[in-house]
Amino acid sequence: MKRAVFPGSFDPITLGHVDIINRALGLFDEIVIAIGINNEKKYLFSLEERLHFIQENFKDIPKIKVTTYQGLTIHYAKEIEASFILRGLRNPADFEFEKAIAQTNRNLSGIETVFLLTSADTAYISSSIVRDVYRNKGDISSLVPDSVAKHKME
Ligand code: ADP
Repeated sequence: MKRAVFPGSFDPITLGHVDIINRALGLFDEIVIAIGINNEKKYLFSLEERLHFIQENFKDIPKIKVTTYQGLTIHYAKEIEASFILRGLRNPADFEFEKAIAQTNRNLSGIETVFLLTSADTAYISSSIVRDVYRNKGDISSLVPDSVAKHKME
């Protein structure tokens, strides 16, 4: 069974993430989308909301599981018997950042990181820009899946 873990904050999940996940479906038997919990980080959306946005979007795809984890991604990957970490690359800055992490992870655990290049039409999307638009009451519907877009602002 080829299982990959797709780790991230998903604060919130965007069409960029969805694109990477959909394209990776052909490469793996199972993809575990895993929300990393970092107690030192402040999130805009609660863990429950972030989980719900992802679960709702992929509810009809049995090959996709959605979970949360704490600690090192490689420890979690070993725990769930995933041999691959999936990541998306948008630009050289992503590459530089991801390169060192992937090399460290392989060194420490033997787990390979598989990178997919973002599609041209979602390359500019980031969760941080979505949060900024959302906080300022802008329209995020062209940047995120419907499960996020229909979320009501408090
Ligand atoms: P993290 O906090 O780990 O950066 P994110 O939720 O921001 O978590 O991102 C998770 C993964 O999704 C990362 O590999 C990131 O590069 C990728 N990603 C984010 N936005 C896009 C996008 N628009 N296109 C492709 N990949 C993306």
